[in-house]
Formats: sequence, structure tokens, C-alpha cells
Amino acid sequence: MLNIVLFGPPGCGKGTQAEKLVQQYKLYHISTGDLFRSEIKNETALGLEAKSYMDRGALVPDEVTINMLKAKMQATPEAKGFIFDGFPRTIPQAEALDKMLAEMNAPVRTMLSLKVRNEELIKRLLLRGKESGRADDQDENIIKNRVQVYNDQTKPVADYYNQQHKLTEINGENSIDEVFQSLCAVMDAL
Ligand code: AMP
Repeated sequence: MLNIVLFGPPGCGKGTQAEKLVQQYKLYHISTGDLFRSEIKNETALGLEAKSYMDRGALVPDEVTINMLKAKMQATPEAKGFIFDGFPRTIPQAEALDKMLAEMNAPVRTMLSLKVRNEELIKRLLLRGKESGRADDQDENIIKNRVQVYNDQTKPVADYYNQQHKLTEINGENSIDEVFQSLCAVMDAL
């Protein structure tokens, strides 16, 4: 089983690259952001709770997020491996993931971290907001809050995997194809 964490700030291109990696390596893509958006669309209690955090660019509480992720993993026993996109975003989430994967005897093999400067992120997110209509991409204050939350709460997760010698950093400002080639080079060497 090959488990990969795709990491980086909002707007760094995780979703785009995850789709390409899934096609190439036949792994199962789990995006916690997509799962929350689907819960919101289906008007579930979980969706309602998540929305109150997402609307202001804050993180959904760890317990809620971890339980949702666990349920999704348990519902896909046939997966040959997972690409985690947008998870883990806090140290407790990273510890919970490590624990779950240790029980499956399939630890995270590597964290692929896409580096993009803050100004570029904000530009990309505002453009995505116009094109996709995603509410949390349309308001510059919410975007700035998400980038801030990333810097404060999520960045330490990269150090966590670095300590395990599992961190690979990639320049996320290159073209989509160039970034994908860099990711594939790391994947192929695993
Ligand atoms: P994303 O699509 O990954 O940018 O996520 C959109 C929003 O969903 C985030 O701004 C958070 O409010 C929430 N979210 C997604 N993943 C997580 C996570 N792992 N932990 C907490 N909140 C999350």
C-alpha cells in the first residue's frame, strides 16, 4: 500500500496535481475539503457544522475531521493506497493519521509539499473564486485568513514529517506540467 500526503497552502495546486497523480498511480484521492463540500451540498449535520468554520476560513475541529477521514478510509478497503489532499492540517491530525496507518501496516511514505509565495496564492484563489464560484475563494479577507491559518497551524505539519525524513519540497510556481513531472520523479523513486 502506497500512502502519500500532498501538502501546501490553499491555492498551491494540490487538487489539480492530486487528480493527475491518481490517474498515473491508481491511488485513491481523499480531499477533506471536497468531503466537507459534499456534506454541505447534501445538507447533512456534519456539513452544517463544517460550513460555520469554512465560511470564515477557519479549520474544522480535529475530532470532526479525523472521524470523517476514518469513515472514508474504512469505506474504501479496496484502495491500493491513498493520496491525502488537505489532510493532515494540524499536528493532532498528523498523529491520528500515523496511528491509523500504523494499524494498517502502511505508513505515510512521503509528504510532497508544494511551495508557492503568499502573493501568488492570493492571486490564484481570487481567480478561482471568479471561475468556480467557491464562496471561500471570493472574499479577500477570508482568503487572507486561510493563508494565515496555514502559516500558523498547518506549516508545523511539514516539520513533523521532516523529522521523520519524509518531506520533499517542490516549487509549485512552475507550470502544471512541470510540477507534475517533479512529483512523478519523486513517486517513481519510491
Ligand atoms: P480545501 O478545499 O482543502 O481548501 O478546504 C476548504 C476548507 O475546508 C478549509 O478552509 C477548512 O475550513 C476545511 N478543511 C479542509 N480540510 C481540513 C482539515 N484537514 N482540517 C480542518 N479543516 C479542514
